[in-house]
Amino acid sequence: MKNYYTDNPALKFQLSHPVMEKIVALKERQYRDYKQYDDAPENFEDAIDNYNRVLEIVGEISAEVLALNAAEVDNEGPKIVNNEIIYAEGTQKDHEALKNAGLYGMSLPRAYSGLNFAYVPFVMAAEIVSRGDTAFANIWGLQDCAETLHEFASEEIKQEFLPRINQGDTCSMDLTEPDAGSDLQAVQLKATWDENANCWRLNGVKRFITNADADIKLVLARSEEGTADGRGLSYFVYDRKHKAVTIRRIENKLGIKGSPTGELVFNNAPAQLVGERRLGLIKYVMSLMNGARLGVAAQAVGLSEAAYREAHSYALQREQFGKKIVQFPQVYEMIANIRAKTDASRALLYETTRFVDIYKALIFIAQERPLTLDEKNEMKQYQKFADVFTPLLKLFATEYCNQNCYEAIQIFGGSGYMKDYPMERMYRDARITNIYEGTSQLQVIAAIRGVGNGLFLSKIKEYEGVEIDSKLIHLKEKLMIMTAQYLTSVAKFETTSEEYDFHARRMVEMAGYIILGYLLLIDACRCDSFRNSAEIFIAYGQAENSRSAAFIHNFDTGLIEKYR
Ligand SMILES: Cc1cc2nc3c(=O)[nH]c(=O)nc-3n(C[C@H](O)[C@H](O)[C@H](O)COP(=O)(O)OP(=O)(O)OC[C@H]3O[C@@H](n4cnc5c(N)ncnc54)[C@H](O)[C@@H]3O)c2cc1C
Repeated sequence: MKNYYTDNPALKFQLSHPVMEKIVALKERQYRDYKQYDDAPENFEDAIDNYNRVLEIVGEISAEVLALNAAEVDNEGPKIVNNEIIYAEGTQKDHEALKNAGLYGMSLPRAYSGLNFAYVPFVMAAEIVSRGDTAFANIWGLQDCAETLHEFASEEIKQEFLPRINQGDTCSMDLTEPDAGSDLQAVQLKATWDENANCWRLNGVKRFITNADADIKLVLARSEEGTADGRGLSYFVYDRKHKAVTIRRIENKLGIKGSPTGELVFNNAPAQLVGERRLGLIKYVMSLMNGARLGVAAQAVGLSEAAYREAHSYALQREQFGKKIVQFPQVYEMIANIRAKTDASRALLYETTRFVDIYKALIFIAQERPLTLDEKNEMKQYQKFADVFTPLLKLFATEYCNQNCYEAIQIFGGSGYMKDYPMERMYRDARITNIYEGTSQLQVIAAIRGVGNGLFLSKIKEYEGVEIDSKLIHLKEKLMIMTAQYLTSVAKFETTSEEYDFHARRMVEMAGYIILGYLLLIDACRCDSFRNSAEIFIAYGQAENSRSAAFIHNFDTGLIEKYR
């Protein structure tokens, strides 16, 4: 039987990262659930065994159910029948398979019928599911909406909604509107307090909503009359049982066709407030989106992995000019680049997830007892890193996913363009990853803070301090040269100048190539199998950074006018 977890040793490698012991102890609160719940681990080894067991099930379902249904689902898509969305038959089977295996509500505490998984194995499951079917990864992955309810909702709301996730209830995050896309401060959907019914009422339109007909909807709405910015927005939970939302249409789109994207009208829909008024966008949606960005990055890495395997196995068997095409330098270079970019994205995915795991666990611990000063500092520190690493990750993983699928089609030649092979679908599916949950441009706007406040540099210096295998020391030397080049480029601008914004992407990418390079190098020191990718990626990153540095160095400020 095929298994997308056990056939990919890079995943177990990430699970064996030295920081996992700390993460699991925090998540399991020193294993206090052990006596209360049958499935709770007794110690670290037990927890890892448990993660392995569950991920093996995810791996098997992804390979044996999701991947086999994916083409049919892509072809059939969902439809609207009597204001309800009916999934494609394959999607229904996928959903049942994961629900029956207890794979919804993975990160929720056991008290809410969850598995209490740390984010690292949860994100890993998302990567594996996406490798099986990227469209289905949305339907399954939106379970992480439950995380924001868990963090910010009242106990009453948690009791009402969270145990339902494990039963397979689906979720959606309803943020975007026709005039509020990247700029969510412009959201207009109205929330008014209904004194008689003792609830909030939602009225207005949302568009481009994934899982449009979800059982549990998290909705961003304007609760404060007369306001026009983010401070007038609050966050609500709506239950599908009220049947007060009309599905205007399902979008006919380029890719992820199995994932229903809909336009909705809220008609006096009853809803409950989550957390405090006015903090909807500023606090809750920011947290929700950071989690979702991690999910999209995992989706992108899973798809890159799938593209690599498709392209590699095709190149091994296709012959031209009397040779396997994998023997041609231009082809094996493309394959090696896909491998290196996938490995680099994955290294950043799990590094970022480890930051999130630590600070989130401390946030939840702080709800149970006061944190010590050291714990408070640690929480703040990891949160700061997560806040700049998350957009960096989303930018790199999703742009690489697009590049990887593009190159994979190239390796297939004309056959890649045909629906006879899965690459055609994967290529279409990749295109959304750098658009939703904030376009790449918006990720740059978030990540540039890490350039300006020196957070990226402080991590780079930390990585520089890690002991490196003497056989790989030449790679560290390259990364140090790249760091000096990055600092010279950044020093050229005032952070408040238009030039700084103009070159923001170049500077973020320069920092990114160094960070990803170090992560791969450190991985290569722990495991030989990453050596090739580290060598290839750092050579590639060095060339890319030199190009950016030269562009910045030679750039005449007056040129900006010409671009306008
Ligand atoms: C298939 C699909 C599923 C989706 N699912 C959901 C969902 O479940 N829930 C939800 O709420 N939304 C969802 N969305 C919406 C998605 O998040 C938005 O489409 C996305 O955030 C971009 O917004 P927009 O489409 O309005 O583009 P715009 O915001 O109009 O952007 C257009 C262009 O301008 C650029 N741009 C905008 N502002 C800036 C800036 N300040 N600086 C530089 N460039 C800028 C953008 O990068 C982009 O290139 C989905 C969209 C799609 C296509």
